[in-house]
Amino acid sequence: MSTGAAISKWVRHGRSTIHGRGLYAHCAIPKDTRVIEYVGERITKAESDRRDAERCARRDGGGDGCVYIFELNKRHDLDGDVAWNPARLINHSCEPNCEPQGIRGKIWIVATRDIAAGEELLYDYGFDYENWRDHPCRCGVEACFGYIVKRSQRWRVRRAIARGAADTKTSR
Ligand SMILES: [Zn+2]
Repeated sequence: MSTGAAISKWVRHGRSTIHGRGLYAHCAIPKDTRVIEYVGERITKAESDRRDAERCARRDGGGDGCVYIFELNKRHDLDGDVAWNPARLINHSCEPNCEPQGIRGKIWIVATRDIAAGEELLYDYGFDYENWRDHPCRCGVEACFGYIVKRSQRWRVRRAIARGAADTKTSR
């Protein structure tokens, strides 16, 4: 188990087994708890698109550059890529124990099941289908999909992989 400074009643920093640093349950967290607010800079959609494009370009066509922006409402997004947002350290998993929820104009990381003390907090980043190849998943759970793609669009990745395999066969 990793150790680290407590940053709220529920959460502390730690070294992740998945990727770099992560956030860990400081104590047992009951299901449906608002564990930590995902804070950041409130920006317009236009600014959001600009930053997204810039980050994706800088990180070689994807990577984890597009992780930090959440939709607040029709006009504004939240850019959580700021030092004062510890929730940005939460890693992705295909078998998560938390999920981001928009609650009255704020984004909260909410426990989707009871979480034991010392467990790493994880949510499904759920990227769009677009650029799926740039987001391979190494979360390590048995049910890992292999790519970080939102559930509703995974069938498109399966189809693309199946077609790719068929293409390779016919070209031989
Ligand atoms: Zn995975």
